[in-house]
Amino acid sequence: AGMDVEADDLGNEGMQAKIKEVIAGGISSTMRAFATPRPIVVRLAEGCRVWDVEDNELIDFNMGYGPHIFGYADADVLDGVADQFRRGHLTGMPHELDLEAGRLITTLVPSIEQVKFASSGTEAIAAALRLARAATGRTVVLTFEGHYHGWSETIHREGKLGLLRQGHRSTELRPGALGMIPEALHHTLQIPWNDPEALDEVFARAGDSIAAVIMEPVMANASVVVPVDGYLERVRQVTRAHGAWLIFDEVITGFRVDIGGAQRLFGVRPDLTILSKVLGGGLPVAAFGGSREAMALLARNEATHAGVYAGNHAAIRAVVETLRKISRNPGIYDDLETKGQRVETGLGKAFADSGRHVHLQRVGSLLSVALLTEPVGPGATMRELIAAIDFEGHRRVQMAAQRAGVYYHPNPLEPWFVSTAHSDEDIDAAMTVIRAAITELADA
Ligand code: PMP
Repeated sequence: AGMDVEADDLGNEGMQAKIKEVIAGGISSTMRAFATPRPIVVRLAEGCRVWDVEDNELIDFNMGYGPHIFGYADADVLDGVADQFRRGHLTGMPHELDLEAGRLITTLVPSIEQVKFASSGTEAIAAALRLARAATGRTVVLTFEGHYHGWSETIHREGKLGLLRQGHRSTELRPGALGMIPEALHHTLQIPWNDPEALDEVFARAGDSIAAVIMEPVMANASVVVPVDGYLERVRQVTRAHGAWLIFDEVITGFRVDIGGAQRLFGVRPDLTILSKVLGGGLPVAAFGGSREAMALLARNEATHAGVYAGNHAAIRAVVETLRKISRNPGIYDDLETKGQRVETGLGKAFADSGRHVHLQRVGSLLSVALLTEPVGPGATMRELIAAIDFEGHRRVQMAAQRAGVYYHPNPLEPWFVSTAHSDEDIDAAMTVIRAAITELADA
């Protein structure tokens, strides 16, 4: 309570300054650095809302970057996890819950027969890349512009905005962070996504040295972009023909765009899949898996994946509670589609009515919206889209909306996440706020 009094006195701004004295940058993930031009220091999160230390209430469409498909503090997940803490949440031994967690994943996700649990997406991806390199005896990993696969050494490259910098072509990879060894990306290739010719060209040139192709099957880290017709099938076919593995990073799409992830939605089976976010309802948990054959080196304990917290019983209980709930209520995906549509329509109308160009893309409850200076066609490349975005205008609308009680990420390339906890009334209230924020932009 003493802390609360201090927070009340300081407000968001003052509290954030104090936090920065003891937490470097004031945040525990560098990726959050651009999240709040107007600081928010959270006190409570419940349903589709967060409350800050000034008791401002915000309807949230960022939702912790995607895990909370049932909203914050969902009673079922919460009760299960609380119960698990009382029963002992980490022993470093197999637990009876592991069986149900494994069976739920292998039942729901088409390509997975065996999994291993990790504690973050980054970690699961790093392990999956090592497994693919070990199993194929090759080193090269092919990835795509704008896709994010965590910050481990051989895959962390300069992000989407860096792509626009002058003189930087998409095939020239640059390290994503200070301190990476210069050779870190020497075995990584990058091409534009959704471009079949670029894919064929790179396979013709380097196909037999490619260990794996890794992608988000619906790109969600540089606005939301769905694969063009036949693209995933083509990637599947060319990887198979060259003996390269196909890895779907379904950290965002898994249990989000469909009960069986993007692979079920589009009917394409990868060799390995990465799951996180919705998987654990907000607990730090990820999983990677594939066929028994693909997982064989790990099954024999020849390849390595390790971690004290990997598969801890609280995380596994969160997985079990979340996936049980999803399995019992498969209708939530229709509900999420309807809610997503309501948000998309509301945003489209709000921007159009004030004469603004906007780029809206959506798969179910995963969507992105970007204010534009000029219209772009539906087939626009990521570069064309980024070049047309009005980043400053978008940020100003976001700040006005935040002031009036609606939070979404100020970066127009970051996705929005709608949960089952967003009621029609919540969505409509948020749209009214955003409409007013756009009007404010015109008046400014
Ligand atoms: N892959 C994708 C598609 C992601 O969106 C993210 C995180 N946003 C990651 C990997 C990395 O996961 P984590 O932050 O848990 O390491």
